[in-house]
Amino acid sequence: MTTSTLPISVRRSEQGAPSLDWHNLPFGKVFSPHMAQAWYENGQWSKLEILPFEDLRLHPATSGLHYGQVLFEGMKAFKQKDRIVLFRPDKHHARLNLSAYRLAMPQVSWEIFIQLLMELLRLDALWAPPAGVGALYVRPLYFATDPYVGIRASETYRLLIFTSPVGPYYTEPLKIYVEPVLSRSVEGGVGAVKMAGNYAATLHTMSHIRQQGYTVTLWLDGRHHQWVDEFSTMNVFFVLEGDSIVTPPLHRGTILAGVTRESILHYLREEGLRTYEREIAISEVVTGLRAGWITEIFGTGTAATIIPAYSLTYQEETFYLPQATPITDKVKSFYSGLIQGKLPDRWNWLYPVD
Ligand SMILES: *Cc1c(COP(=O)(O)O)cnc(C)c1O
Repeated sequence: MTTSTLPISVRRSEQGAPSLDWHNLPFGKVFSPHMAQAWYENGQWSKLEILPFEDLRLHPATSGLHYGQVLFEGMKAFKQKDRIVLFRPDKHHARLNLSAYRLAMPQVSWEIFIQLLMELLRLDALWAPPAGVGALYVRPLYFATDPYVGIRASETYRLLIFTSPVGPYYTEPLKIYVEPVLSRSVEGGVGAVKMAGNYAATLHTMSHIRQQGYTVTLWLDGRHHQWVDEFSTMNVFFVLEGDSIVTPPLHRGTILAGVTRESILHYLREEGLRTYEREIAISEVVTGLRAGWITEIFGTGTAATIIPAYSLTYQEETFYLPQATPITDKVKSFYSGLIQGKLPDRWNWLYPVD
């Protein structure tokens, strides 16, 4: 599909075909044998390369490690009957550049991005789990490399892309803890950017609540702790009265514009369901759960896909969601039908690896 215009050098791994138990794959612990790489220096990208997956050598003063010019993406490739497809790589590429812009990092052209991806996926196609069982998670990582302890936007950068055959991220419905005090993002901050530091900001809460059996944190707005933002790694959807679907809006710039979020909104609208991108207060959520008119909550993201909630805890009070989740099920079956090639790709979201 893409004609190669940039030279990519390929250094092959000696590793043979995978011997993996596809049905018991963990998330994010198994890596395919190759990675892709490009360097930015002297104002341009160069040295595009596929090389064996291996440890990095880094200067101790690598500026990204110190000052956080580090961002990433997460997307998935799926094996279908006779091909491998990427889910909306154009959207992930656009978001990578949006993140880069906010962090004063250079843009990455579509040509470089997609050519590195295609070359890598062709080489490690055997590492994509069988259709319906799992996915090949694709992780672009982009960081500043100046060996400099002063603070300024780095002049050199490195882009890496590696892949990981994965099974499910969550195996059970979510047990949600609503964080009442700490914040993950604020208006004008970097909450809408897929940068490394945003996840570090969520881990204190997670390590405390995990012992109590919670599986995810739901974050509220950083100013009033009143409006629902999102989970640490997923967007959030609420089903009201069984048929209205509400998800927080993007305009405050405090949540990530999930590709899964946008895809699901698009699908639900095309299906004629009532969807709303609007502010939803935690007090409204609590009222709705107590009265029973919030009938489902689900999280969405590339890694976790679509996952329903089992319970939600806010300020010492726990609410349990109904076990029947018709809207979540509908969205899930659409998504899995689409990626497995069982449903028509009505909106051209699947990008074949040729
Ligand atoms: C990656 C991510 C999401 C989900 O985005 P997708 O594009 O759907 O994978 C949501 N929230 C946060 C904070 C994320 O990092």
